[in-house]
Amino acid sequence: MNDPILDIQGPTTRFMARQGLVAAVDHVGLAIAPRETVCVVGESGSGKSVMALSVMGLLPRPHGKITEGRIDFQGRDLTRLSPGEMKQIRGNRISMIFQEPMTSLNPVFTTEFQIAEVLRKHRGMTGKQARAEAIEMLGLVGIPEPRKRAADYPHQLSGGMMQRVMIAMALSCHPVLMIADEPTTALDVTIQAQILDLMFRLKTETGMSIWFITHDLGLVADIAQKVAVMYAGRIVEQAEVRELFANPLHPYTIGLFNSLPRIGGKKGRLTPIPGSVPGLDQLPSGCAFQDRCASTASADCRTHPPELTEIRSGHWVSCHLYNKSTD
Ligand code: SF4
Repeated sequence: MNDPILDIQGPTTRFMARQGLVAAVDHVGLAIAPRETVCVVGESGSGKSVMALSVMGLLPRPHGKITEGRIDFQGRDLTRLSPGEMKQIRGNRISMIFQEPMTSLNPVFTTEFQIAEVLRKHRGMTGKQARAEAIEMLGLVGIPEPRKRAADYPHQLSGGMMQRVMIAMALSCHPVLMIADEPTTALDVTIQAQILDLMFRLKTETGMSIWFITHDLGLVADIAQKVAVMYAGRIVEQAEVRELFANPLHPYTIGLFNSLPRIGGKKGRLTPIPGSVPGLDQLPSGCAFQDRCASTASADCRTHPPELTEIRSGHWVSCHLYNKSTD
């Protein structure tokens, strides 16, 4: 097994709230190997995007900060880098694409200008070189007539086209890791499939790793090698994708599977997880999932947060049901 390029070792990210500091990401651990695709799954409010923003050094200041733990990227702890050093890594070695391309692209500049700007800043190209490369990148991500579309402003592009432009920008500095935060959620199904197809074709061509954030467990089976399930700021289950799909153990993961639509499923009926993720300032003592849990919770569930424990090789679960497992 290759050494991970990204090794997230227990960082905790806190935000200042009315009640004081609250942890949006709490002692999470995740490693991503070269060329690997890792999916982080969970509902809105589970902390998956904050975890990515923590790695990118993009937490809103001064309200959000990493208070403990380390994030090793190619051997350097990102939590100890200066803003200038972080800027060198962000966009160059790690890039990120977001759910809403319209909010990430600048509406007053053409697509060519925006990609060329990245190339000038990060790869030191001249204006002429950067413009030529920008057009090439637009062609690479499947934009028809790239020379013509290069002069378009974001509002002249469809959602799928804008997301292709974002991918072109993210790839233009040859990152070794791309973080994709629900990049297809705002797109309709056929465009979603095209964008995913494009991302993973480019992943094969460039050899980069992908950290894919999604709330859609159905998507994960097709794209991931490894999956981490997040709930209320913590990773509650982590395993290789085949193992997780064959043997989901945490009641939350089982609930996510039960709420997936299935063609010809037993009764053709979905079983949603009751309730919603609690607010960060309203987390109960003990297990954060206790009020929604379908399993018989023990007294420990109300008093002690369960530890993430390796139940079988590479399969980690944070639940009192398994703490004493001898399997
Ligand atoms: Fe349910 Fe208890 Fe496991 Fe939490 S620790 S998921 S409440 S059984």
